[in-house]
Amino acid sequence: MTPAGRFAPSPSGDLHVGNLRTAILAWLFARSTGRDFLLRVEDLDRARAGAEAEQLRDLAAVGVTWDGAVVRQTERSELYSQAISALSGAGLTYECFCTRREIQEAPSAPHAPQGAYPGTCRNLGPAELEIRRSTRPAAIRLRADVTEYTVKDVLHGPFTGIVDDFVLRRNDGVTAYNLAVVVDDAAQGVDQVVRGDDLLPSTPRQAYLAGLLNIPVPEYAHVPLVLNSDGARLAKRDGAVTLTDLGLAGHSAAEVRDLILNSLKLPRGPLERALAAFRPDSLPREPWVWTGA
Ligand code: GLU
Repeated sequence: MTPAGRFAPSPSGDLHVGNLRTAILAWLFARSTGRDFLLRVEDLDRARAGAEAEQLRDLAAVGVTWDGAVVRQTERSELYSQAISALSGAGLTYECFCTRREIQEAPSAPHAPQGAYPGTCRNLGPAELEIRRSTRPAAIRLRADVTEYTVKDVLHGPFTGIVDDFVLRRNDGVTAYNLAVVVDDAAQGVDQVVRGDDLLPSTPRQAYLAGLLNIPVPEYAHVPLVLNSDGARLAKRDGAVTLTDLGLAGHSAAEVRDLILNSLKLPRGPLERALAAFRPDSLPREPWVWTGA
């Protein structure tokens, strides 16, 4: 398998300039290191009809090219089940019946970091399990034997974050993002993960899980987000932020691509030109504040 980078959007709506900027960065990181570039549609959750086609159209319009067929997570449940079975076979999972509210209200376990699952269902005996199973469907959690883990990030350096008994399969049967992303990246030969730095806190969980599944940990680069003028993460409600809306306001896709490249201190024009000038070390490390086109 050719080593690859990837962009993995959730098809919940149109991509905005922040998403497009992350996609361009992922493309630059992959292409500048001779990697393939793959697109994976993360449609396990939050899929909106028609969004995938619009996202692919917009990525192509700013010059992002990809190799091979687009992969959809909803078509890969077999792979996720195999990984969960392997973990269960090794005694590394357990059933959890907690509601969100029960988790919030439970006293946290001694020494557990804030926000970690308190371990309520970790050691249920057979009789108790029996009773719980008759009340509600179980989620499957990882039985983690660490509380934190350190990853290396190209832009952030070493990063240590929480690893708790996180969910692998939700109680509605849907595979959890943290499991799917690890399994998919490995199955697709992705050894470079470039994505928004809002996902950095989830990365120690994913790298730890990769180790349990005997999967090599990819290279990570978590790139700065795009913010609105109030300093909050850019969102659809921040006005014309998608190619469609910017187009209606008279801005072409090439113009938007150039604004993005300019924000990265890269030459405007086709992405190949930016590729020739791309140096990860020279990337701006601060978020880009979007004030409109
Ligand atoms: N699907 C995730 C998102 O759109 C990205 C996941 C990833 O890149 O690992 O936020």
